[in-house]
Amino acid sequence: MSEAVLEAVDVSKHFTVAGTVGSSQVVRAVEGASIRLRPGRITAVVGESGSGKTTLARMLARFYEPTSGEIILDGTPVRAGGDVEKAYRKDVQLIFQDPFGSLNPLHRVRHNLDRALRLHHRSGSKAEHEERMLALLERVSLSPARDYIDKFPHELSGGQRQRVVIARALAVEPRVLLGDEPISMLDVSIRLEMLNLLDRLCREDGLAMLYITHDIASARYLCDDIVVMYAGQMVEAGPKDEVISNPQHPYTKLLVESSPDPHRGVTGDRDEIFGTADDLGEPPSLIDPPDGCRFHPRCPFAMAQCRTEAPPRMQREDGHWSDCWLHPAGRADLLQTASMTALISRRTAEDPS
Ligand code: SF4
Repeated sequence: MSEAVLEAVDVSKHFTVAGTVGSSQVVRAVEGASIRLRPGRITAVVGESGSGKTTLARMLARFYEPTSGEIILDGTPVRAGGDVEKAYRKDVQLIFQDPFGSLNPLHRVRHNLDRALRLHHRSGSKAEHEERMLALLERVSLSPARDYIDKFPHELSGGQRQRVVIARALAVEPRVLLGDEPISMLDVSIRLEMLNLLDRLCREDGLAMLYITHDIASARYLCDDIVVMYAGQMVEAGPKDEVISNPQHPYTKLLVESSPDPHRGVTGDRDEIFGTADDLGEPPSLIDPPDGCRFHPRCPFAMAQCRTEAPPRMQREDGHWSDCWLHPAGRADLLQTASMTALISRRTAEDPS
């Protein structure tokens, strides 16, 4: 497998709670996360709101400085203000969730593309510059490009706006694209087109791509690898088919079972297997996260050591890993159980709190 273009190595990000400067009260948004993005490969980071996936993307985009750990570009750690940081601005581009907020609403598409192009292609005639802008729009399937280049953002649909945002990101010829829920604000009818566009661009340009989403079904469609985050920590990762068809962490299994599947029914199995949402409770506070495994207050399999000790990593030969006590305890077969209702009931009986 090719070398990583961009890596996060054991990065954490803590935010001080407003009004508590000097105190120890912090939000532990991400802790001990590592990820490698390789050319021509798309990696999804999946998790619910508050899992830390957007914070991770923003550290990779250098919007946030990690509290600890390192961001590495082409094998060289990136430090604020260093030479590597200049290359970073060109090589790593972030696509936000809201395309309208990403474009200057007072300017036409032409202006929004022009600035990015001029920053990175200072030479060339006016005609060449115009040709580059039109080519960028054609690449993102805004065709014929002359129909779009002089429109204002409000004259475009949400999908067209997101295509302009992607065209602007491509203008600097990046090597890494970070997509922070890039399709979640678009109409359902055009999400598939957008996923196909991202896939095509990644394969054609050999881009390393990070795809942040709460929707494991779209991750399965688009990506090569999936990383699952829960409460600021990575809990499972590996090749997508392995993670989806053979989840090794109960939280991953919950995500998979919660995902609509025409062959399985929309939600029936989820409730059968994991109980109702009330059974599962809320995600934990990141100011005072649970000891041990952070999923233990919601996990139907939680054991005594899950409440006190962080689970060890179980690494498989195929690059698939998970952090869960079920594996060293020899109880991983529980994950194959078709119905866990009885286990949920037993947990409640053992620990009524
Ligand atoms: Fe559940 Fe324990 Fe595994 Fe955490 S470590 S997911 S609580 S079984």
